Amino acid sequence: MADINEYTGAMKSTLPNTLIDQFQRRVTYLRLSVTDRCDFRCVYCMAEDMEFVPKAEVLSLEELYQIARAFTELGVGKIRLTGGEPLIRNNVMSLIKRMGELPGLDQLAITTNGSQLQRLAPELKASGVQRVNISLDSLNPRKFRHLTRHGNLDQVIAGIDAAVAAGFKGIKINAVVLKGRNEGEVVELVKFARQREIDIAFIEEMPLGLIDDHDRVLTFCSSNELQDIIAASFPLHPEGDPQGFSGPARFYSMTDSASRVGFISPHSNNFCHLCNRVRVTVEGRLLLCLGNEHSIDLREILRGDDYSLEKLKWAIVNAMDIKPERHYFDNSEAPQIVRFMNMTGG
Ligand code: SAM
Ligand code: SF4
Repeated sequence: MADINEYTGAMKSTLPNTLIDQFQRRVTYLRLSVTDRCDFRCVYCMAEDMEFVPKAEVLSLEELYQIARAFTELGVGKIRLTGGEPLIRNNVMSLIKRMGELPGLDQLAITTNGSQLQRLAPELKASGVQRVNISLDSLNPRKFRHLTRHGNLDQVIAGIDAAVAAGFKGIKINAVVLKGRNEGEVVELVKFARQREIDIAFIEEMPLGLIDDHDRVLTFCSSNELQDIIAASFPLHPEGDPQGFSGPARFYSMTDSASRVGFISPHSNNFCHLCNRVRVTVEGRLLLCLGNEHSIDLREILRGDDYSLEKLKWAIVNAMDIKPERHYFDNSEAPQIVRFMNMTGG
């Protein structure tokens, strides 16, 4: 991790109201992890036995709010809450309500495994959350349980249906596809999304963290392969490169449905030149790139005796200088990044 003083020391005279990195990319999107804990243990995301961040090192709800406020005041218009499972954090709804009222925040979104949505979907909507991404890798209860280790498919489907009923602006299913496990289900998953008129994106597995369930080289399933399988049932029409706040998914429309099908392809299709985002882990580490370790410690600033929102904002502004140009995921066996996805926030 870089020394924050290196960055806070090199202060420009006036705080800017936009974040621009050294490659002239404007950062407008923050993914904020509110917990590393989860009620599932998805085989591609976590090992069976996980050590979580000690409670004392986890940012408080107030510290998370300060970070959200600093970013919005620096021109970040979209924040996605993630984790771990964001909806199992104690009192997370109080943070979400406050964030929903932040001036300058155009879009509040959340990524969830859906386990708590049946209970919380209406409250999330009322608190200003506009977009919800829900993970769903299989429609077979036994396979779903295997992939998530603890998940209950009926509960997640009920959560998705509660989200649909709550009327969010956008709902997207995220499915990580592993060869030999769930690649045979992609057409059924598209049908599931079409029935509900919601979007679905298929994600290539990323080499984050040392997992014990499978060899990622053997389970790799490329987006191109999936696209061919789906297009044989539903002709897909490309929407072009991701724009604005949208993520790295390449989206396709279908003439007979409002649903769109997306592919997130960190291996086979690199969108780093369009990157508009940074991440903050629940320990307060500002990660400048998902696939690199470049980061600075915001918690040290938040817990410093001389803390001020301005100091926090300067650290964020100056950190833009170390945002890397791109990641270099390849298909080698060893994870290039040892942190697990539940730390990074998807
Ligand atoms: N618990 C929530 C969930 O599952 O949606 C939010 C956090 S989870 C880390 C965010 C997203 O990352 C999920 O869609 C999950 O499928 C995806 N993910 C986790 N590990 C991954 C990996 N190794 N490669 C690609 N996607 C991964
Ligand atoms: Fe939990 Fe989401 Fe990771 Fe699955 S993908 S273990 S639900 S954080």
